[in-house]
Parts: sequence; C-alpha cells; structure tokens
Amino acid sequence: MAAPLIDLRSDTVTRPTAAMRAAMAAAEVGDDVIDVDPTVERLQRLCAEMLGTEAAIYMPSGSMTNQIAIRLHCQPGDEFICEADCHIYNYEQAAFAQLSGVATRTVQGDAGVLHVDQLRDLIRPANDHMVRTRLVTLENTHNRGAGRIQPYENVVQICAWAESHGLRRHLDGARLFNAAVATGIPPADWSRHFDTVSVCFSKGLGAPVGSALAGPRELIQLARRHRKVFGGGMRQAGIIAAGALYALEHHIDRLGDDHATARILADAIRQSAGLRLDPEQVDTNMVIFRVDPALGTAADMVGALRERGVLVLATSPVKIRAVTHLDVDEAQVRRAGQIIQEVAEQMQ
Ligand SMILES: *Cc1c(COP(=O)(O)O)cnc(C)c1O
Repeated sequence: MAAPLIDLRSDTVTRPTAAMRAAMAAAEVGDDVIDVDPTVERLQRLCAEMLGTEAAIYMPSGSMTNQIAIRLHCQPGDEFICEADCHIYNYEQAAFAQLSGVATRTVQGDAGVLHVDQLRDLIRPANDHMVRTRLVTLENTHNRGAGRIQPYENVVQICAWAESHGLRRHLDGARLFNAAVATGIPPADWSRHFDTVSVCFSKGLGAPVGSALAGPRELIQLARRHRKVFGGGMRQAGIIAAGALYALEHHIDRLGDDHATARILADAIRQSAGLRLDPEQVDTNMVIFRVDPALGTAADMVGALRERGVLVLATSPVKIRAVTHLDVDEAQVRRAGQIIQEVAEQMQ
C-alpha cells in the first residue's frame, strides 16, 4: 500500500481546517462590488490594524496586490528597483510591463537580502533620455532566498534612503507574518517603513484564497478602482474572506511550529551524503538544498522522493525546495527527512 503523501512542495498546498470551513460556511456576505461585503470589510479592517495602516483591500492573489501596488506608485515609462530573485520579477510574467508599461532594474542580493549601499547609485538622472526611477520593492521573507528574513536594519536603511530621494516603497510581504513571528518584530513595525504592503493568506496561514494590500486610505481607494480593471472585483467574497479572517485570528502564532519543523528537516538534509543546504541558513519555513550531480539531477531526486510519498519541488536543475506548513506535523517532517536521507543514499 502506498504511504500517504507528505506534501512539502509549498505552503500554498494547505487546505482549510474544519474550524476554518465552519467559519466560511457561517460567513455573513454582501455584494462587495456594488458596495460592501461585511466579512470582507472585517478582514480589511483587521488587516489594516495589524499592519498599522489606515486601510487595506482584499484581492484574489498576491500577484494582483503586488501589481496593483506598482500601478499605484508608477506611471508608464517609470522604473522600479527590485531584488533579482524576487517574486515580482521572476514569477509574475513581467505584469508590470504587460499591464502598466513599467520597467524594472534588478539588483542581485545575498539569498534575497539587499543592502542600501547596493542601491545608492541607481537613481536615474532627470532628463529626457531616461526612465524615471520611482519605486523600490522588497520581499520579506524572501521566497527564492529560502525564506530568508530581511535584516530589520537593512529594511530601515533602504526605506529611509528611498524616502529621502522621493522614491515610493512597496513590501511584498507574502510571508511577512513568518518574519514577524521569527523575529518578534511586530508586522506593523516592518510595515511602517513602506507606502504599501501586501500579505498573503493562502500561504502558511492556511486560508484557501487571497491577499491584501495595505496602505494609506487614499491609495487603497485608488487600488479598489484598479482592482476592478484587473478583474479582481469579487461579489460574495465574504465566503473566502472568512477563511482569511480565521487564519489571521488563529494561525499566526503557530507559524513558529513550521519554523521548528523546517530546522528539523534541515538537520536531516545536512546529514545526507550528496546533499547540501544552499543557503545554509534556515530562517523560517523553507529549506533549499543542492543535489550533487553524482547522485543525479534535482528532477531525478524529486521523482525518487515522489515514489516514496514525499513531494518537493525542483527549483533548478540542481536545487530542490521543501516547505513546512500546517498540513504536515513534526512526525511527518521527521519521516520526510528520513526518506530524503535514504533516497540520497540509494542514489550514490
Ligand atoms: C506566493 C507569493 C506571491 C503571490 O502569489 P500568488 O500566487 O499570486 O498569490 C507574491 N510574492 C511572494 C514572495 C510569494 O511567495
């Protein structure tokens, strides 16, 4: 009999718990496009409160919150500065170019971490030959950086520098709550350095759908207008917003459990011949490791692990990513670590 699957491909695979489903079934709803859905309204208020902003708006995805933030801050022919491995640049089909006529300038970080000294010379002079530098985006935690937390000091310095040069700041905080739990620095302390912040409910928080964009009331009102044209107006959205609300109320503190299980998994990988953590540092709920070509490709290993009931993702021909989340408990993660060791051994 096949062993049950241990799915470590992403923290997006989490399914709503029974209690979350009950909250969703009981949600009060309205038409959030005509005027308001009361549950969406509650979610937006709580989100703004937690992030210390005047307002927040619920959207179907994190890609939409990021892209609408760029639309808010930039005009066609403007440029924004971002880290080279960030989600906005790598995983959103250059929507900033497709949908908003905006260009980007990428800077290579260290596991996604940027330092202000790397940015100082990147603001274009104001003349008719040049695009206009308008915005800096940061990602925290950093997805391709294996869940790396941006050092708080770096964030403060980058945002202060950007503000002093009249640049807007947007935070892709898809996993900001992971950073907050791991550091003890509250979400609002991270968020106050930015003009807009996006957070995802459908990652480690375990809600089925959605993200929010938070910021000043005036910008969020404008975001509501953009959301309509991007196709993100949702009517009885209280059904899904209730899942997000439940996640904010019940699933934040437990993110620390995912960080603990990620460290357990990392230890197992460290002890596996032919595997090497890359980066070595495990800050939150993600582990990325390199497969020695003598064992085979990352895809070979992903296939061998799948046969043993462990699902992970190849992120390059030599790298594999595993993510812990609320649908895998410590025993399952220990089991996955053991299977990874055994498979690495067999591939020698
Ligand atoms: C998941 C994610 C997003 C948003 O993804 P969607 O699938 O569009 O919701 C944005 N940024 C980061 C860093 C992410 O990991």
